[in-house]
Amino acid sequence: MIIDKAEVIVTSPDRNFVTLKLTTNEGHTGLGDATLNGRELAVVAYLQDHVVPLLIGRDAHRVEDTWQFLYRSAYWRRGPVTMAAIAAVDMALWDIKAKAAGMPLYQLLGGASRTGLLAYGHASGKELPELFDSVRAHLDQGYRAIRIQTGVPGLKAIYGIASQAADTADGSIRYDHEPARRGAFPTEEDWDTRSYMRHLPGVFEAVRNEFGPELPLLHDGHHRMTPIQAARLGKDLEPYDLFWLEDCTPAENQEALRLVRQHTTTPLAIGEIFNTVWDFKDLIRDQLIDYVRGAVTHMGGITALKKTIDYAAQYQIKSGFHGPTDISPVGMAAQMHLGLSIHNFGIQEYMQHGSKTDQVFEQSFTWRDGLLHPGANPGLGVELNIDEAGKYPYEQAYLPYNRLADGTVHDW
Ligand SMILES: [Mg+2]
Repeated sequence: MIIDKAEVIVTSPDRNFVTLKLTTNEGHTGLGDATLNGRELAVVAYLQDHVVPLLIGRDAHRVEDTWQFLYRSAYWRRGPVTMAAIAAVDMALWDIKAKAAGMPLYQLLGGASRTGLLAYGHASGKELPELFDSVRAHLDQGYRAIRIQTGVPGLKAIYGIASQAADTADGSIRYDHEPARRGAFPTEEDWDTRSYMRHLPGVFEAVRNEFGPELPLLHDGHHRMTPIQAARLGKDLEPYDLFWLEDCTPAENQEALRLVRQHTTTPLAIGEIFNTVWDFKDLIRDQLIDYVRGAVTHMGGITALKKTIDYAAQYQIKSGFHGPTDISPVGMAAQMHLGLSIHNFGIQEYMQHGSKTDQVFEQSFTWRDGLLHPGANPGLGVELNIDEAGKYPYEQAYLPYNRLADGTVHDW
């Protein structure tokens, strides 16, 4: 089974997506997600100029060998652009292999370890009443776990707070936060860590008082705290029994998590911007985190993320794969197949894609009673409608960035 065609498809239905489509001489097709939010065209060039020419004529069955060939033969290893490109090839080859076998991919990965995947959604509000409405809307949609992000007094616009309602396939309004904005320059947001840390515990106290002790609650610190600040926040949130505190520090310095860990029993999740197992090595080996936030799209594909999460399993560390709307339906499907098959699944982030995206990417997954399932179609269970994709050309878009009150650029 030989790869005889490789196409890179850029489409922007509700946001930009980069997709690799491979076709074999036997007529099987496979899709891979290569979307790198805000830097999409760098991956397009990497794929078109340096990867596609190497794929033509290769044996489509050799998934591991192709991964190693692309990773090692480049000499320049790792990095978000390289690993997103390798991820797309890896996903597309697994898609083809599973279609050739006539099975949904999770069967090739060991079969189902559970009936469905617990998913969490993003509730947010500038003030408590708006936040409570958002939590109720998510409960009404069937979510059994909810991330809580809140406005901070004195700050105008910050990460995680919905600033516009997005439409969904069934016409309902949701509160999910899509941070990338179309335009030629990133928008500026403001930040003050001390105000945030003073405000947040009271918000969680109010949410617990309103919704009770049972509901799993999550929070994303979005890389903004120093290690000692993160340690303090983790301690302050302990009474509210968080499912996890996410990205409490930037974490390029893995040692920072050791300091946080020494001070708090709040579970820690990290790694949505990591590219390889090496970014997780100390965190897993020294048991400094509880959940691996890697995304199949940014960690080099199913092959690499499965190795990372299998390593984490030896330390009772679970999955919490990154799943915002910049992970395309192809990447989400790949994560669902992996999550269904591994033993150490924890939770899956699930922001619903918009209706235009759902028309471009025809999907077989189901979401019932708060649980995701990738479906029974052979392969990943996603097909790209090329006519729909062609309606939405690329539009430049950037994630925002942060400045402190004195004008200093801060982690966003
Ligand atoms: Mg996050």
